Amino acid sequence: VWRDCLAVIRENVTEQSYKTWFEPIIPYKLINKRLIIQVPSQFFYEWLEDNYVKILRKALDYAIGKDGQLEYTIIIDRGAAKPTTNPPVGTPNKAQPAAPIVPPTQKNPFDLKAFNEKQIESFLNKSYGFENFVEGDCNRLARAASFAVAQKPSTTSFNPLMIYGGVGLGKTHLVQAIGNYIEKQSENSKIVLYVSSEKFTSQFINAIRENSLQDFMAFYMRVDVLILDDVQFLSGKEKTQETFFHIFNHLHQTGKQIVMTSDRPPRELSGMEDRLLSRFKWGLTADIQAPDLETRIAIIQNKVEEEKAIMDEEVIEYLAHCIDSNVRELEGVVISLIADSALTRRKINLDMAKFRVKSIVEENQKVISIDKIIEVVTDYFRIKVSDIKGKTRLREVVLPRQIAMYLAKEFTTLSLKAIGYHFGGRDHSTVIHAIQTVNDLIDFDRDVAGHVKELKDGFKK
Ligand code: ADP
Ligand code: MG
Repeated sequence: VWRDCLAVIRENVTEQSYKTWFEPIIPYKLINKRLIIQVPSQFFYEWLEDNYVKILRKALDYAIGKDGQLEYTIIIDRGAAKPTTNPPVGTPNKAQPAAPIVPPTQKNPFDLKAFNEKQIESFLNKSYGFENFVEGDCNRLARAASFAVAQKPSTTSFNPLMIYGGVGLGKTHLVQAIGNYIEKQSENSKIVLYVSSEKFTSQFINAIRENSLQDFMAFYMRVDVLILDDVQFLSGKEKTQETFFHIFNHLHQTGKQIVMTSDRPPRELSGMEDRLLSRFKWGLTADIQAPDLETRIAIIQNKVEEEKAIMDEEVIEYLAHCIDSNVRELEGVVISLIADSALTRRKINLDMAKFRVKSIVEENQKVISIDKIIEVVTDYFRIKVSDIKGKTRLREVVLPRQIAMYLAKEFTTLSLKAIGYHFGGRDHSTVIHAIQTVNDLIDFDRDVAGHVKELKDGFKK
């Protein structure tokens, strides 16, 4: 009977959809006119119901007759079926009790050989590996968990694995290392896919526009190891999140490995749906902190060695001391020093290093505009932009105004006069007074010192 159904279905769906959604189905039982089929996951069932109800009905009509009925069961293990609680096909009311969640340890019910595996490219960058990732206290847990996952994808309890940490601290490097490691162990021909959340989102949007959502889903559901980078990017994108939620559940339920990164801890991912956030908690969340001095030194040494260059201890230490919050920036300086030295045929010396560091610092300062400073400060103190630029002398406004001026001096190249102009046309002596006041307060007032430090750290990121 099922073969008859499949014949009808095959004529009505694309090859891709057929392979993804119908080949994995196992016919289980036929009781009177009730056909029971096994599907790999709850999501699978929902997807069939949402997208293929009409075709399934047609197939039943043909194979059994108008009074034919279809029921689903979700596979726990190959062969062993779970009694179904799902409504038969075409039941209008979908608010029925859902099927039980399947434990993630079940066997993979897909016959991967049925798919053309070559069709998925991993998008991994081969230069990111564990061997060139420097370990320190700042990243020990994240590295260890990543390595464990790389060795035994989907069999550790680190599923999903979520790595979070600030910009340029090695998240992408680490998760790419996982993918590369798994790919290298060629005997398990696992399909690994690395994708940034930005790309995922735009693929999703394209899929909707081009009416190919089913192919999009099918594509992601074939993956054995899904690496989704920078999930904070999904914040506020409801539809994309919902789709990811389905893919996530399906992969998780069918025993696939999921790895994600974020620039902040899950609890701070605003605009993320709660059900998605709570899924993230199933596995392990590990953070990466800014590297300490020793780790920074080791990272520089590593890079210098990789480039087969030479750099004195003195220079290495200087760089490690100056650039302390972003490994990408640190690497950038090292590379450009090596390039400088190759070009000028001169050994890298301290002066060259100082020059580079200075230009980096200046560059970082330039990108912060005074409007940005005003925006951040008013946000921070929860006051209005019009107040900070206005005449009020209330302390709740005066102090933030002074701090904003102080930060403007620190982070922009604007003159005192120009700064005054941006604060409702105040003159430059007011700006000088503000800067002096804040400087004094930083020394004597713990609260103010704390505020200024937090704001500054925010800008330095
Ligand atoms: P993130 O994704 O967290 O923003 P990346 O993974 O892109 O950061 O890292 C930025 C750069 O710094 C990359 O070139 C990466 O190789 C390097 N890097 C970061 N952390 C380390 C580390 N612990 N050891 C070696 N290189 C590192
Ligand atoms: Mg990254």
